[in-house]
Parts: sequence; structure tokens; C-alpha cells
Amino acid sequence: MTAPIALIDLAAQQLKIRDRVDDAIKRVLDHGQYILGPEVTKLEEELSDFTGADHVVTCANGTDALSLVMMAEGIGEGDAVFAPSFTFVATAEVVPATGATPIFLDVDPDTFTIDPKSLEAGLETARGLGLKPRAVVAVDLFGLPCDYPALRKIADREGLLLVADAAQSLGSELDGMRTGTLADYTTTSFFPAKPLGCYGDGGAVMTSSPEKAELLRSLRFHGKGADKYDNVRLGLNSRLDTMQAAILLEKLAIFEDEIRARNCIADCYAEKLPSNIQRQKVPRGLKSVWAQFTLVVEDRHVVQTACRSNGVATAVYYPLPMHQQTGYKSFPVVQGGLPVSEKLAKHVISIPMHPYLSNDQVDRVVEAVTSAVA
Ligand SMILES: *Cc1c(COP(=O)(O)O)cnc(C)c1O
Repeated sequence: MTAPIALIDLAAQQLKIRDRVDDAIKRVLDHGQYILGPEVTKLEEELSDFTGADHVVTCANGTDALSLVMMAEGIGEGDAVFAPSFTFVATAEVVPATGATPIFLDVDPDTFTIDPKSLEAGLETARGLGLKPRAVVAVDLFGLPCDYPALRKIADREGLLLVADAAQSLGSELDGMRTGTLADYTTTSFFPAKPLGCYGDGGAVMTSSPEKAELLRSLRFHGKGADKYDNVRLGLNSRLDTMQAAILLEKLAIFEDEIRARNCIADCYAEKLPSNIQRQKVPRGLKSVWAQFTLVVEDRHVVQTACRSNGVATAVYYPLPMHQQTGYKSFPVVQGGLPVSEKLAKHVISIPMHPYLSNDQVDRVVEAVTSAVA
């Protein structure tokens, strides 16, 4: 029996960097500054260089990163925050906690990211409900940036805040500009399975505004003022551990190579998979980091079965759009409904994607998928 092929192989990556990670952890144990130690500052500087974002404020996880943005903007009761329905729960989860109302939008059938036309319709929906449109949280699904030029045009016209949920897309590009610079705020996650992941939870917010960056630094530390025992606003305890920052610095050092490898594998898949299988499309000018490689197939069960019997892992991201999930059914959706999100949820399937897939493994995945659709 040939060895199984994992969806994401974190062990293969660890093998490559284990010695450097061990040394990095040892350095933290030696200096003992476990909270906001020197590695946290260094990581924020290096991420700023890497993304081109002027300010990077790390925090405890990608969900908190979104919450911190909501808090920094004073989003609350009476406000509408737009989010795609075809996403991970965290994108919308943070909105009701502020008192604001999430309104679910539909996505584009080719890119799986927010359809700008759905945002236009959502503005009408919000006003019909007597809500003030405040922000749109655009999700770079599976590593692919949204259509930010189109979203920016609408946001500027309407005075909407444009937030990029880049939990899956750190390192991706639009016209040569990296994620982190494409919206008013960009949030990301360092959850282990994300393209840049640590060995626990972690996250960050990126912005070009020095004032907002200062505010975020206060908010992530209980709303502290100049003196940490004079708390000048309501905040969170949401700091990135020094230990995780030290690990991330070692992972960031190989991240450019990993992004190149992911794109090579994606090109290979694109070339070798039967051309009649629909997959997430990358429009001209965009560069994905391929957090997932996702197909749209008529009968998902057949592909799952063929892959399983050939030792190839698959996963379904996401089997239910947000607006159909039990805890979220009561929130409003864009007028006209969300036919694309509902269809994708029924037909998507993700196949193995990580930087350490060998050519042989790629061929085995292609064979398994091809046998199922032939
Ligand atoms: C993973 C993820 C998040 C949340 O990140 P955590 O670090 O797990 O809190 C938010 N949005 C999207 C789209 C994600 O995939």
C-alpha cells in the first residue's frame, strides 16, 4: 500500500525547519519575555517588510483580529456589516458580538469571492432594514484575493470601510501589491493549517494608519493607556505569544519558497486535471497562495470515494454556507438570495495542497480524481 497523501502536511515542513525552531524556542526560554517579547516586535517588522503594510499589529488569533477592527471602528448597534456567506464562520461571528447586523452576500461562481454586484444589492437590503451600511469584510477564499478595485469603488462611493479577511491569503498579490495593502484593514490568522501557520493560535491586523495601529495596540492589551494600569477604553486580552512569534520568524524565512512551490503545484494540477473539471479561477493580475485547491464537481461523493480508496485525502470547505447554519439563519441575506453560495457548498471538494507535495504525489492525486470523473 502506498503512503497516504495528506491534505496539508505540516510534518514535512517541520522536518525542514525543526532545528531552527528548537533553537528559537530555546532562545525564548532563555530570555523569559513570554508576553510581547523581542520576537513579537521583530515579527511585526518582518511582516511589514514582507507585505508592504505600514503597520502590523499581531494578536491572539484571526478571529480576534477581526474583532479588534470592529472595536477600533466603533461598529455597533444599527450598523450593517457585509460578509460573504461562503466562508469560515469567524468572518461573520465577530459582527453580532458588537451589536451590529451581518448581511450575507453571494460570491462569484468562478473566483468564489464576493461578487461586487451582490454588495450593491446588499446596500439596498441594509437600507430597507433601516440599518446603516458601515463595513464590508471581503474574504480572500482559499488564498485568492477578492476583486478589491471593484469593492474599493463601491466602498468609497458609499463611505464603507473595506476590511480584508486574509486569514487564508497572506502572501497573495493583486497587480504586484501584496495582501495587507489592498484594504483599509487586513486581518490574518496563523492557525497551524493556514499558509503561514504557527504551532498554536495567532493572528494579526495590518493597516496604513499610524493612529489606528496605536489604537489596535491598546485594544489588544485590555484598552491600556500610557500606563498599563490606566485602561482608557474597553479592550481584549489578545496578544501573540512570544513563543509563537519566534516560531513564525523561522517559518516566514522559508515562506517565499513555499509560495513558489504552492504555485508550481497548482500549475501542475491545472495542466494535468481533465479540463472539464471546474476549479477556482485566478483572474489576470491576481496571485493566489493556494491555501486550498478546490474543484467543483457534479457528484462530490464519487470523487471522495475514489480518492479515499487511493489514499488521497480530500475535504469539503464549506458544506453549508453561513446563512444556512443553525446559529446564523436568523440574520438577513442580500435581496435576491445566494444561489451561488448554495450551489458551491453542494459541489466543492478540495484536494491535497501544500508546498511539499512531490511530482509523484501530484500524479497520484490527478489519477484518483480523473478515475472518478471519467
Ligand atoms: C481561519 C479563518 C479565520 C479565523 O482565524 P483563527 O485564527 O482560527 O481565529 C477567519 N476567517 C477565515 C476566512 C479563516 O479561514
